[in-house]
Amino acid sequence: MTNREIILDADGLTVDEIGALWAFLHGDIMEPGIRSRLREYWGLCPRHAWGHAVVEIELWEAGAGARHGHQPFDVGVLHDALLSQMAGALAGRHHTSTRVLRREGGCYVCQQLGGGAEPVGYAGFDSTALAAEANRMIYTRRWLAETKPVWELVTCPTCAGTSTGRLCRTHLLEASIDAASAADTGTYLAGLDRRLRLLVDSMTQNGTPSTPDADASWVEAVAWFAGWSFPLALSSDDSNRINP
Ligand SMILES: [Zn+2]
Ligand SMILES: [Zn+2]
Repeated sequence: MTNREIILDADGLTVDEIGALWAFLHGDIMEPGIRSRLREYWGLCPRHAWGHAVVEIELWEAGAGARHGHQPFDVGVLHDALLSQMAGALAGRHHTSTRVLRREGGCYVCQQLGGGAEPVGYAGFDSTALAAEANRMIYTRRWLAETKPVWELVTCPTCAGTSTGRLCRTHLLEASIDAASAADTGTYLAGLDRRLRLLVDSMTQNGTPSTPDADASWVEAVAWFAGWSFPLALSSDDSNRINP
C-alpha cells in the first residue's frame, strides 16, 4: 500500500504529496484539461481532496477577507463547480441510476505522484520545513472545530457510524438511489453551493462577511464528495494534538 491509499488523518501528508498539492494550487488547477479531469472524477481522491484543503489553509498566508489567508479559497472555487454540476445532474433525473455519482478517470494528484514526474520544486522554500508546517494542521483544526456545530448535523451515517445524517457520494452510490433521494440530494447540494459561494465571496476584496453556515460549507462540500473520515478523525483527535 502506498501512502496515498491511506486515509488522511492527523499523521498528515508526505513531503512529495505536499509538493504536488502545492503545484496544483499554484496553477495546475487553472488548466482547462485538468479542470475537465477534475469534473469527471468529482475532484480528487479522499486523501488528496482533504490534503488540498490542508495545504491551502496551512500554507497560503495572504488573502482577502476578514481572515487574511489560511482559508479554503481554491478548494471553495473547485467545489462550487463540482456542486453546481452535481446538483444540476441530480435535478434533471427522472429515472433511477447511480451513474452520475460515479467517478470517471483517476485522481490528478495521485497520477502526478505515480507518473515518475520530477518532484515538484517549492521555488526557494525548504520543502521539509513547509511540509512540517502543513502537517501541524493548526488552522485546519481551528476551522473544523469552529464549524463543527453546523457540519456535525449532516455527517454521513455510514462514514460516522451514526443513525442520522446525510449519505456522502460514495455511500449514496453503495446504498443505491431512488428518484426521491436523488431530488432531495440535488436540493441539498444546490443549497450547499449557495452557502459555499457566499464563503468564497467573503474571501474576495469586496465580498460581504461570511456566516457560520457559510463557514461550514467547504467542510460539507469536500466531505460529500470525498467522505467524512478526515474531519471526524481530526476533530476526535485528543483536543489539539500538535505533531512534533
Ligand atoms: Zn489522490
Ligand atoms: Zn459516507
